[in-house]
Amino acid sequence: MTFVITQRCCNDASCVVACPVDCIRPTPGQPDFATTEMLYIDPLTCIDCGACVPACPVNAIYPETELPASLERYRDINANWFEENPLAPVPAIAPAPEPPAGRRGQLKVAIVGAGPAGCYAAEELLAHAGVEVSMIEKLPTPFGLVRAGVAPDHAGTKDVTGAFEAALNRDEFRYYLNVEVDRHITRDELLNHHHAVVYAVGASTDRPLGVPGEDLPGSHSATEFVSWYNGHPGYADRTFDLSGERVVIVGNGNVALDIARILTADPDHLATTDIADHALEALRQSKVREVVLLGRRGPAQAAYTSPEFLALGHLSGVDVVIDVSELTLDDATAALMEAASPSLRLKLTLAHEFAERPSDPNRKRIVFRYLVSPTAITGGEYVNAVELVHNALVEESGVMRAVPTARTESLPASLVLRSIGYQGVPVEGLPFDDQRGVVPNDGGRVTGADDAPLRGLYVTGWVKRGATGVIGSNKADARETVDHLLADFDAGRLEQPTRDRADLTHTLLARQPDLVGRVGWHLIDRAETARGNLAGRPRVKFTAVSDMVAVARAARRPTTSNQPVPEGN
Ligand code: SF4
Repeated sequence: MTFVITQRCCNDASCVVACPVDCIRPTPGQPDFATTEMLYIDPLTCIDCGACVPACPVNAIYPETELPASLERYRDINANWFEENPLAPVPAIAPAPEPPAGRRGQLKVAIVGAGPAGCYAAEELLAHAGVEVSMIEKLPTPFGLVRAGVAPDHAGTKDVTGAFEAALNRDEFRYYLNVEVDRHITRDELLNHHHAVVYAVGASTDRPLGVPGEDLPGSHSATEFVSWYNGHPGYADRTFDLSGERVVIVGNGNVALDIARILTADPDHLATTDIADHALEALRQSKVREVVLLGRRGPAQAAYTSPEFLALGHLSGVDVVIDVSELTLDDATAALMEAASPSLRLKLTLAHEFAERPSDPNRKRIVFRYLVSPTAITGGEYVNAVELVHNALVEESGVMRAVPTARTESLPASLVLRSIGYQGVPVEGLPFDDQRGVVPNDGGRVTGADDAPLRGLYVTGWVKRGATGVIGSNKADARETVDHLLADFDAGRLEQPTRDRADLTHTLLARQPDLVGRVGWHLIDRAETARGNLAGRPRVKFTAVSDMVAVARAARRPTTSNQPVPEGN
């Protein structure tokens, strides 16, 4: 028997180090690791010990004999990868050099942002004895996009928060939630209390389409819609018109697939998830029957990953519709396919399988369109159609680029969601690369105009590398940043802080009495899961900051000066 990695693999590679026979690939450091859709187990080498199962933070690994029907195909997907990439030993990663005696124990680091990038950075730092970490987050809840971005029907992916909770549950770690940098504390003040500040602020906006009408009522960004159905306090009051039959999503990445699933899912199924109550109610009234995803290039260049594409085929009551005529490959792409990876070939195989399936007009539909781009979003006071141009592909230096043809089309729609990728926004006081939407950096060290590192300033996650990769991709990214930070500290390149942690807590409390610490967050967490238990759901989220703060306040204890202090932060 072998074990099998399946759909929800988060790529953080925790399983790789757990495996006693080193049969999980690719590994961090291998060239394929940065771009792989998932990790794979070599069935010929696996000794069936099960050590990787508890190491996986999202429970993605199954014994082959216990694969549910919807995941059966992963047995072959794992095995096929090794047919093209025979298992070979990879050089062991050299252990980090011992820090100079008596120094690392004094390192103090602030991390701005409590999403997966920040959590992985904290985990990496706390793996070194004596390092203190302060995590600053503007919301009263941690975990960023795991809470507000991962689709509610992907509950297993959210299990990674359990691994974060375990790693961060240390005296050396403090949460300062509901605190905003540049509102409650400045960057320079953080540096007075810490040797370094690591920005893990993500990419908080969507890339614009740049076509007329994209700001019409009824045209929204994916960020708005995803944050709304996930109960993000900044988006809970948004409304979306779900009274029409067709929604068009511009883009075909995994976020677009998430949205398509949520729009077509049976509300009774969504009612078993942690979807926001307001979204569930709106989706119960929805008249949407068809969601059309637009890809500007062909099926071989589609942005979705094959595991997410494959999973659409197991949705209840929903057909995946593809016109087989859109799957014909141009000569250049067909030539490139001869050396294509197994996962790319799987994507095309799946597209053909979907195209061949009969569809039932009584079922909802997710329709994939390829080689089309929007040229305008039209309507009077409200969106009513998307104007499309058909594209052809041309090869430029091995990359297939979409160029418009003379053929056009008008696609009626009552709601348009723009999902062509996230983009970072400038961070106050840091240089910014507008083209790439990232803070310029060298392996996580923020660099200035002369490309020299700016002392004490680091980045990790999307604001460092751009909005690419999955949750686990942030682990290797964080390790690189932390390695550089530790090297700078050991070399004496960081300035000694002049203020201590107690000072930081009191300063922040004076400026933000509604600061939420670890106990406050755990009270929020417990209250949400208790509400969920009553409703037969994993949790019912609070969607207003005031409600979260009210629950967290119970964590306060009065001091002799009557100044409330977050207990056990
Ligand atoms: Fe490695 Fe054991 Fe997992 Fe097989 S079951 S992949 S041998 S850790």
